[in-house]
Amino acid sequence: MAIRTSILVSVLLMPFLAGAQSTDIRANPERMEQRIKTLGEFGTNPEGGVSRVAFSDADLAGRAYIMDLMREAGLSVRVDTAGNIIGRLEGREEGLPVIMFGSHIDSVPGGGNYDGDVGVIGAIEVVQLLKENGVSTRHPLEVVSFTDEEGGLTGSRAMVGKLSDSTLEVMSHSGMTIRDGIRNVGGDPNRLDLAERKPGELLAFIELHIEQGAFLDEENIDIGVVEGIVGIRWWDVTVEGFANHAGTTPMNKRWDAMVSAAELTLAINHVATTMPGRQVATVGRIRAEPGAPNVIPGEVVLSLEIRDLDAWKIQQVFERIQVEAKQIADVRFTPIRFSEIDVASPPAPTDQQMRRIISSAADELGMSFKLMPSGAGHDAQDMTHIAPTGMIFVPSVNGVSHSPKEFTSPEDMANGASVLLRTVLAIDDGALE
Ligand SMILES: [Zn+2]
Repeated sequence: MAIRTSILVSVLLMPFLAGAQSTDIRANPERMEQRIKTLGEFGTNPEGGVSRVAFSDADLAGRAYIMDLMREAGLSVRVDTAGNIIGRLEGREEGLPVIMFGSHIDSVPGGGNYDGDVGVIGAIEVVQLLKENGVSTRHPLEVVSFTDEEGGLTGSRAMVGKLSDSTLEVMSHSGMTIRDGIRNVGGDPNRLDLAERKPGELLAFIELHIEQGAFLDEENIDIGVVEGIVGIRWWDVTVEGFANHAGTTPMNKRWDAMVSAAELTLAINHVATTMPGRQVATVGRIRAEPGAPNVIPGEVVLSLEIRDLDAWKIQQVFERIQVEAKQIADVRFTPIRFSEIDVASPPAPTDQQMRRIISSAADELGMSFKLMPSGAGHDAQDMTHIAPTGMIFVPSVNGVSHSPKEFTSPEDMANGASVLLRTVLAIDDGALE
């Protein structure tokens, strides 16, 4: 079945690739590795990773390096008003929409050398390979390095016109507000409208990124074709008990909020584990009141987070958790209340055709691939609002990420860039039309 599907896909794609030998070009693993290492020197931390938080001096130095690489690859470089670095290569035909690809180079504090970096270095590799092989495209190409991804997708949010004024006042890890940070990297927070791109301006957006999970590494699969970025909903769950003396209250006369909260935590795990699908549900924080060893907890507040690629599924998981909570509350005489926190981000599915094009590119390059969701947030989720968007994952060794121990092999990075190149050329040849 798998073989039949892949032959069918190849046949369907044939007309777009006919005569295009350029699609056999492969990325250079040594060059990518060397550039990842050089980029890693900006903001290097003693553990071997980087702390290159957005807007910091290390970020500025890393950005300067990226702009140099872009120029070397033949791109003309500008910084938009949101601080996004954009390198552009004109196409052969005028007036065509842009094919944009890229990622980010800022890190979390105590981060690694691959999250984001692989996507930016890989995007530059694509343009450099085109130049070295004398290949031009019909459409203009733009390589982007988004501002402050780790601080809340700042650059991509601005690009799709969704960066709010209140967000600009948020303090970033650099010690600057996002507003001042944007100014510090050469943007203009008062003219973010100029950074906006309208639907139709971009023919496509593609992001190459490390998986940050262990699926590809464990299954020994070369390429993850991302189906979308999962949606997230958060709740505060309050369990009401009755605070009383821990020494004088017999076990059968207690309304113990902690015991109910413990049962509920297990029930949440059970619901998410036993329903079919890839949903995840987590209790990540718990607070007991009054919080003393000698007092039966009168109130416990837990966090509940649910993620899935399907908003309906998240709701189903939540409703089943509510049913379980009701039973626990009734049996233990501890009412349980759910109040949703307003941080929900809806699922962001990638474009179906983009998934097909990326799958074909991997297949034709002889790489194994698999469709999968992204459990982590990415700039690509914003870009789905304005352009057909695709995402290419490469393996993270042991699934470690946001850590100095993050690692992706040079070969895997190059595989990702080769798939990105082939995807860009297929789109340029009309695969999306
Ligand atoms: Zn990232």
